[in-house]
Amino acid sequence: MHLLIVGGGITGLSAAHRAVELARERGIPLALTLVEARERLGGTIASEHVDGFLVEAGPDSFLSEKPWALALCRRLGLEDRLVRTDDRFRKVFVWHGGRLHPLPDGFQLLAPTALLPFATSSLFSLSGKLRMALDLVLPRGGGDDESLGAFVRRRLGAEALERVAQPLVAGIYTADPDELSLIATMPRFVELERRERSLILGLRRALRRAPLPGTSGARWSLFVTFAGGMEEMVTALADRLPAGAIALKQRVTGLTRSGTGWRADTTAGPIEADHVILATESHATARLTRYVDPALANLIGEIAYSSAATVSLGYRRADVPHPLDGFGFVVPRREGKALLAATFSSVKYPGRAPEGHVLIRGFLGGALNAGVLSEPDEALVQRARAELGQALGIRAEPVLTRLHRWPASMPQYHVGHLTRVDTIERLAGAIPGLSLAGGAYRGVGIADCVRSGEAAAARALGVENA
Ligand SMILES: Cc1cc2nc3c(=O)[nH]c(=O)nc-3n(C[C@H](O)[C@H](O)[C@H](O)COP(=O)(O)OP(=O)(O)OC[C@H]3O[C@@H](n4cnc5c(N)ncnc54)[C@H](O)[C@@H]3O)c2cc1C
Repeated sequence: MHLLIVGGGITGLSAAHRAVELARERGIPLALTLVEARERLGGTIASEHVDGFLVEAGPDSFLSEKPWALALCRRLGLEDRLVRTDDRFRKVFVWHGGRLHPLPDGFQLLAPTALLPFATSSLFSLSGKLRMALDLVLPRGGGDDESLGAFVRRRLGAEALERVAQPLVAGIYTADPDELSLIATMPRFVELERRERSLILGLRRALRRAPLPGTSGARWSLFVTFAGGMEEMVTALADRLPAGAIALKQRVTGLTRSGTGWRADTTAGPIEADHVILATESHATARLTRYVDPALANLIGEIAYSSAATVSLGYRRADVPHPLDGFGFVVPRREGKALLAATFSSVKYPGRAPEGHVLIRGFLGGALNAGVLSEPDEALVQRARAELGQALGIRAEPVLTRLHRWPASMPQYHVGHLTRVDTIERLAGAIPGLSLAGGAYRGVGIADCVRSGEAAAARALGVENA
């Protein structure tokens, strides 16, 4: 059987690798082609080694809680290359009123779990704290598919949304919380309210039962990365594929049925295949499926994307007055800044900066601040530098500056997303020999993409993904 995979990001690569594994295990004859439009593999994953700094252009880590990426690393023999976060500096700051306030210890994404740090926090007003505490007595509420913004306002109040939930969520999903579907992104909180009513009480109980990864001597921290950068995973996957399977700088421009299989037109000529996995961003998938099934293509095309940019700045340690005693900070929309968040990369992970230096990465753009990305490169870098300077007291010139733009790269799970994806999967499932995979459907992170790619490979080969 000839399997064609379109897209050489982590989803397409995971699909290709799993297909090879399954074919070998089950004795299925497999011819594999993976076609990638760009001149390199990895999609949004790209690591650069410059002057002793290790710069992540896109993702800088993956979640160990979701098992699929970690399990793949084990199979690839990459476990020894994984590094954990330096959890002595687990703290995250929030920029509010012109300065950085630590997020109180025990704050779990949306709600506090530890009383004293929350009560004494400088981040919230007294009325804001009292409103959050109302969660303890409020009854259950909400509809079937509520936005994250509506949910947090209802349970914890506007201040919790503006000062914590919105900026933390922007740092992960680059999304507008009033459009983001809670059930599609953080079903745990929907479940928590359903089961326990109060988020605060429910989170405290859950913590007593199972402490967070990384807090009790667990092998892996919540986020993990590779000693040599995220691209290690890309290289390891590519190395396991059969010689000649990968075609770079080749864009698939159209997809049509051909006998019992498919014909993919590409910039380097047509490819015939029995099964096609589209592991492309869903806006590209929508274009490729428009003559296959227009209704399906329309639905896929409705999944919105936002754009982002990262600005990585290297400084001499002596030029940064701030103690950098945390993983970084997030910036509420209300502060009117270009930065969504900043990571103290060389504090969070080892080996990111040469001796005596630090690496800090700003994250800009997203659904609520797309306009800033229309600025030219130089202006964007200046904005990031000025705002990091303000937050951390830096006046000196950076010794390293790298800007990476990611246009239409972050899928947005708006309210209604799961219903749309159910229909997409039903329609796509009725088309023999075609599978869809990637971060646009059921999870935006790398671990979810690995799962999605591997499941598509199993479907393509007609086997269970054990
Ligand atoms: C700035 C940034 C930071 C992030 N941080 C994290 C993080 O820390 N942790 C985490 O888990 N996730 C993070 N993510 C999300 C994560 O990077 C993505 O979920 C994941 O890498 C997506 O992989 P993918 O293969 O599905 O898509 P992509 O990486 O987008 O790959 C799709 C590929 O398809 C190719 N393609 C498209 N159309 C065609 C065509 N017609 N023909 C051939 N090829 C085509 C593209 O060129 C691309 O290479 C981040 C994303 C960004 C942008």
